[in-house]
Amino acid sequence: MSAAPDASAAPDAGAALERGAAPDAGAALERGRTPLLQVDGLSVYYGDAQALDGVSLHLADGEIVAIVGANGAGKTSLIRTIGGVLRPRSGTIRFEGRQIAGLSSHVVCDAGVGQVAEGRQIFPSMTVLENLELGAMLPRARARARKTLAEVYDLFPRLNERAGQLAGTLSGGEQQMLAIGRCLMGQPRLVMLDEPSLGLAPTLVQEVFATIRRLHERGLAILLVEQNVAASLRLADRAYVLENGSVVLEGAGSALLDDDRVRSAYLGI
Ligand code: ATP
Repeated sequence: MSAAPDASAAPDAGAALERGAAPDAGAALERGRTPLLQVDGLSVYYGDAQALDGVSLHLADGEIVAIVGANGAGKTSLIRTIGGVLRPRSGTIRFEGRQIAGLSSHVVCDAGVGQVAEGRQIFPSMTVLENLELGAMLPRARARARKTLAEVYDLFPRLNERAGQLAGTLSGGEQQMLAIGRCLMGQPRLVMLDEPSLGLAPTLVQEVFATIRRLHERGLAILLVEQNVAASLRLADRAYVLENGSVVLEGAGSALLDDDRVRSAYLGI
């Protein structure tokens, strides 16, 4: 992709990590401010097979939005398309008003969209510190890397204790912390998490949700895909339900928790 990172348009996302309180995202949207993320009419294909069909959604600064849906509904495809890993066939993706659909993933990341992929994707034969440093390679993050590292260690003291250890020797929960920490090293304003609690023991699942809450308290916006539907709806300000690549329901997390269709399809109630 030829587009150069637009450093001048990047906000001071490091400041987002430091901010004490989350902004009132719902109120921001009601006042008609530009959403942080605005997706319209997104369609994505793998060859001839359609994965997303005209998906539209929005997310305000500091908001937690959950994406819920069965296996194969298109959740991962949505995150990968917003993150620049997949190219949409049609539709627009605006981040802070800037069109990012079709830009390469490093450009999207440098614009402030962080991504924690399913399966963690850390580098097992590199140390914890080296993995974290990799997260701060882009122009947006480089100058403040040392300060951000201190903030990440403050959030995850265990990563500090294990800084010199090979990442592959960490437990599953620690590897998930490392994946989130590496994403934060890029100083995102929006963090997209794909199945962060997958394969973790129940106590660690709680820890992952507590971590997401802390990121939110520090002012970051979160787009969350989780198989743990009840917990993600409890946590989210708002949520979208995807079925066969289309949004079929949207609303406040608490309202969807009470929705009969959601309860029977995803909560087994
Ligand atoms: P899961 O919870 O199983 O990860 P999901 O909701 O994240 O599901 P996607 O992985 O986005 O769904 O898949 C959406 C559709 O795209 C599915 O029909 C899937 O089979 C198809 N798909 C996903 N990845 C590919 C690929 N690399 N090649 C072809 N088809 C794919």
